[in-house]
Amino acid sequence: MNDDTPDSAQELADVLQDVRRHLLWQEETAGRSLLVDAKVAAELQQQRAAASSVRSMIARTKAPEPAAAPPPPRPPPESPTRDALHAAMKQPLGAPRPLAAPPPAAPPRAPLAASRPLASDAPAPGMLLDVPRSTPRYNGALPGVVEGERPTLDQIRRELGDCRRCKLCTGRKNIVFGSGNPRADLVFVGEGPGENEDLQGVPFVGAAGDLLTKMIGAMGFTRNDVYIANVVKCRPPGNRNPEPDEIAACEPFLRSQLLAIQPKVIVALGKFAAQTLLRDTTPITRMRGQWREYEGIQLMPTFHPAYLLRNSAEKRKAWEDLQQVMKLFGKHPGAGA
Ligand code: URA
Repeated sequence: MNDDTPDSAQELADVLQDVRRHLLWQEETAGRSLLVDAKVAAELQQQRAAASSVRSMIARTKAPEPAAAPPPPRPPPESPTRDALHAAMKQPLGAPRPLAAPPPAAPPRAPLAASRPLASDAPAPGMLLDVPRSTPRYNGALPGVVEGERPTLDQIRRELGDCRRCKLCTGRKNIVFGSGNPRADLVFVGEGPGENEDLQGVPFVGAAGDLLTKMIGAMGFTRNDVYIANVVKCRPPGNRNPEPDEIAACEPFLRSQLLAIQPKVIVALGKFAAQTLLRDTTPITRMRGQWREYEGIQLMPTFHPAYLLRNSAEKRKAWEDLQQVMKLFGKHPGAGA
C-alpha cells in the first residue's frame, strides 16, 4: 500500500513549500495563457472588422436590388356608364372587334415557277422556280368529284346541269360557270355574275370585267392563261349581294372547280370570295394584301374590281397585292412582265 502521510514538521514544511511552488507555477501559467488568449482575441477582432468593411464595400458597389413592390391596390370594379352601354347596344352584332395581334400570315413561299409555261409567258431561263402543285384536301363529297379522283371541269359542269338548287335560278338568263385555262396556275374568284355576265354566260365581261382584264394584262397574263370563276353562278337580282343560302348551294361547285384546276395561286376578288373560301369573316380591308392558304393553295385576297371602279384611290393597294402575286410567279412589273 502506498502511504504518503508526512512524518515530521520538517517534512510537513517541505510539502507546504511544494504546494506553494505549484500554486505559483499555476498562477504564472494561467497568466501566460490569459495573455495569449487576449492576443488571439484581439487578432480575431481585427479580422472580423476587416471582413465587415469589405462586405459593406461590396454592398455599396452592387446595384440595389429592387424591393418587391407591394401589389397595387385593386381598383374598384368599373361599372359601365349609361353612354357606354348605349354605344355598345348600338353596335351591330357582326361589328369588327378591335384588332388583336394579327394572325400569323402564311409566309409567302419562294417564287413559284410555272411548271408549264403560261401561253403568254415564255419563262426566261432561271426566272421561275419550280414548286410542285399541292393537292388540296377536301372533306365531304363535292359535286362532280369521284372520291379520290381529280375531276374535270366538264364533269363538274355536267353535274351542275340546269341548276335549281337555290332561288337565283328563277331570275337568271344563263349560268355563268367560269372561263379560261382549265390548267391555269392562277385563278381569279369573283362574287357573282352581273347583268352582262348573265346575258353572255361569261364571267367578268362588264365594266368590272374590263378592269379585271386590264389588271390581268398588267400582271403579264391574258384571260386565256388564267381561269375566272365566281362564288355564285347565277346573277343575284339587281346585282344585290349573294345571300348565305345561295352561297351555300353554289360554293361546293367552286370548290370542285378549284380541285379540278389545282392552281398555284388564287386571287380572291372582294369580301365574298375571300370570306367564303377562307371561312373567315375578317373584313376585306384587313384581309387584303396578306397571303393566306386555301387547301394548300396560296391565296391572295384583294379588292373587287367593281369596288375599285367606285374607289379609284384604292387601286394602288390592289396593284400592290397583285404585285405580290407576280413576285410569286417571278414576274416583275415594268419588265415586260
Ligand atoms: N362581278 C363578279 O363578281 N363577277 C362577275 O362575273 C362580274 C362582276
